[in-house]
Amino acid sequence: MKRTRIAEVLTSENLKAKISVMGWVRTRRDSKGGFSFIEINDGSVLSNLQLIADNSLPNYRDEVLELQTGCSIRATGTLSASQGKGQNVELKVEEIQVLGWADPSVYPLQKKRHSFEFLRTIAHLRPRTNTFGAVARVRNAMSLAIHTFFQERGFLYIHTPIITGSDCEGAGEMFQVTTLDLDDVPKKDGQVDFEKDFFGRPTNLTVSGQLTAEIYALSMGDVYTFGPTFRAEDSNTSRHLAEFWMIEPEMAFCDLEGNIALAVESLKYIFAYVLKNCEEDMKFFNRFIDPSIIETLEGVVSEDFECLTYTEGIKILSQAKKKFEFPVEWGTDLQSEHERYLCEEVFKRPVVLTDYPKKIKPFYMKVNKDGKTVRAMDVLVPKTGEIIGGSQREDDHDTLLESIKGMGLNPDDYWWYLELRKFGSAPHAGFGLGFERLIQFVTGMSNIRDVIPFPRTPGSVSF
Ligand code: ATP
Ligand code: MN
Repeated sequence: MKRTRIAEVLTSENLKAKISVMGWVRTRRDSKGGFSFIEINDGSVLSNLQLIADNSLPNYRDEVLELQTGCSIRATGTLSASQGKGQNVELKVEEIQVLGWADPSVYPLQKKRHSFEFLRTIAHLRPRTNTFGAVARVRNAMSLAIHTFFQERGFLYIHTPIITGSDCEGAGEMFQVTTLDLDDVPKKDGQVDFEKDFFGRPTNLTVSGQLTAEIYALSMGDVYTFGPTFRAEDSNTSRHLAEFWMIEPEMAFCDLEGNIALAVESLKYIFAYVLKNCEEDMKFFNRFIDPSIIETLEGVVSEDFECLTYTEGIKILSQAKKKFEFPVEWGTDLQSEHERYLCEEVFKRPVVLTDYPKKIKPFYMKVNKDGKTVRAMDVLVPKTGEIIGGSQREDDHDTLLESIKGMGLNPDDYWWYLELRKFGSAPHAGFGLGFERLIQFVTGMSNIRDVIPFPRTPGSVSF
């Protein structure tokens, strides 16, 4: 008999139907009346399905009474309205088959609360917990929401490369890709001879799909990428991963204002989508992870974001009574404590900060008339801080060339990027939205290691 998912069973109108379900046992409770209650979960939904197994089953004594948390089973029976509270339906079991045992003396997941730190050490089993199941379902729903949002607006999904030979991405923080034998590296004139390497030159894992997305934007109009990016930054924080996913729209014929409008619209769309489509999982997060999460998301969907310039932001921060660990003055990069202060204490909503000093932003951002600031925009949210970094891109060839030289970079490495400004250049803009930071904001999960299935951080790459 075909397997029916529990998500479908629990919303079934067709009681009395005979069905087969498969899943992992969460609990078993034996009643004096000669039957057992078994709760199983199959990952399709947060709720468990309750099975009623009668002692007249041929394998009741030998197998049913031995079932423990973590065993996988198949159960066939008829659905009926439940007498107990907490569920609408239950399955009266006619046949039960054990597919895989889980010895309780060694199975690490027991029916009690485990710390997230402990669960990270058993990332192969943690999706069987309520929290990690809910994170996985919400992450899935958010991926779909993101694609739907952009596709409905005519954006093309572009697959930008993971391995990059371009030197323009942002040196220092990159992972090098090589097939050279590290115990016997070929040398030429005392230097590593990359001509002998796989690609004949040094290559890295990409830190962003932006530069190649710009190429497609300047041919196709509106495009986006949604893929993994890699940063070898040694920051052991609750908001940094060495491998994370990023959504990067890039739009031709678009300026900073259009860019901000798209960022705000996309965030609201994703939040509204999750509130509507992940109701049970969101209630779970609201109950066990962050009691204000639903209210916060509803607020973000219905209210305007606060929009101000970096210069105005610095003025507010330098007049603040609060003592910051890092001092603020015009020209310094904002730390997460400053970003959070603006969102949580001053405006109590997401904040879009624009027009940052040129010298703390990358070379490709469009320079303002003042010559000191660039058309940058960061979107900051309560608790998480920065979730989006974006800008209008410099579209003037000579200004871009000056910025490249001014930052001590070699224009030859940027020849194709510069050519886009020589042949049919157009105003264009885009941003990068960190997917895991977005999931943190939506679920209230405080550590970024807990919103990606298998986190990669400095010194840690298990699983
Ligand atoms: P931060 O200053 O917070 O480290 P950034 O300014 O280096 O971030 P950008 O280069 O602007 O980040 O990247 C765009 C977005 O990607 C960020 O707004 C953030 O949401 C996300 N992001 C950046 N670095 C990481 C990381 N190491 N792990 C997870 N997400 C990240
Ligand atoms: Mn940034």
